Amino acid sequence: MKLSRNFCLLFIGSILCCAQLIAQDTFTVGTATAGPGQKATGFLEVSAGADPATSIPVVVFHGAKPGPVLALVSGAHGTEYASIIALEKVIQTLDPAQLSGTVIILPLVNIASFEQKVPHVNPVDGKSMNRFYPGKPDGTQTERVSYAITKQVVERCDYLVDYHGGDLDENLRPYAYWPKAGNSKQDATTHDMVLAFGLDHIIVWSDRPKDPNASRYLDNTANTRGKPAIAVEAGYSGTVQPEDVAALSSGTFSLMRYLKMLPGTPTMVEHPVWLSKVDTVTSDRSGIFYPVVQRGTYIEAGMKIGYVTDYFGKVIFEAHAPTAGVVLYICGVPSMKQGDTVANIGEITTTP
Ligand SMILES: [Zn+2]
Repeated sequence: MKLSRNFCLLFIGSILCCAQLIAQDTFTVGTATAGPGQKATGFLEVSAGADPATSIPVVVFHGAKPGPVLALVSGAHGTEYASIIALEKVIQTLDPAQLSGTVIILPLVNIASFEQKVPHVNPVDGKSMNRFYPGKPDGTQTERVSYAITKQVVERCDYLVDYHGGDLDENLRPYAYWPKAGNSKQDATTHDMVLAFGLDHIIVWSDRPKDPNASRYLDNTANTRGKPAIAVEAGYSGTVQPEDVAALSSGTFSLMRYLKMLPGTPTMVEHPVWLSKVDTVTSDRSGIFYPVVQRGTYIEAGMKIGYVTDYFGKVIFEAHAPTAGVVLYICGVPSMKQGDTVANIGEITTTP
């Protein structure tokens, strides 16, 4: 009798244990609803205001087992192609049956930029789609989209990654951002997330807005709401290089292993190059730009990094590095307008 009662308790215990290992409910973002072990596609519908409506594609992978919610967002700048194609690759290869938790993917936020091949901004309202978070329900299209993503993606997730790269005019080497917010627990998590992602040049970004109502950037919108988030960049000048796509997609899977959403061990960066500050070099003159260094070049303070001529070939401006560091990106096209960016130089530190 005693034996059989114990057996009974053991049996009930096993059922409860199994129930905890199986995700029960469906998960919905926009028009995409996935049950446990399923993948679903749909759209975040953003209605018209002063300017037209838009539909942002969304994919929900709802794991067979419970776990955290990870949001992956690319294409705020619709011509940073490698980052968009990397998430397309993740969409094609991630298996919800293997997943613990839920992955929300927005592979292309700025559809008008992508379709019209317009860099930097949303051509509908002329605004960068990574500068107006947390957004406004009654603003222009960029602000309404940002508001929808804040409410329907950021507030629903536990972790977030924002994907970027060199835009049409940016010759960029891959790097990531570690947003150091001054909150030691969250900073430790984002520190490990960025190492698990695998890009070995990492900008320590400690002067980001702290106010969740003026968070400005997508990853900062998540971080100011207590959800650890990082930003990553790879790809350049309109190209879709296999190594850039592979760096971003394999980094995503490594991060999922770090978060215990996929089986296996993450590949952590062992010897990162920490960058304490980014210096932007701009052009004093309009004309034709000629770079003299490549993306990724290590330079000394004062080195010439490029020059500008007038339309008759006469040199009218020379750009020099203000400090020693690494060329994160340099202008990748001859078009140069006074005040535009010539290059971004990352200053190396050993004490991040
Ligand atoms: Zn971008």
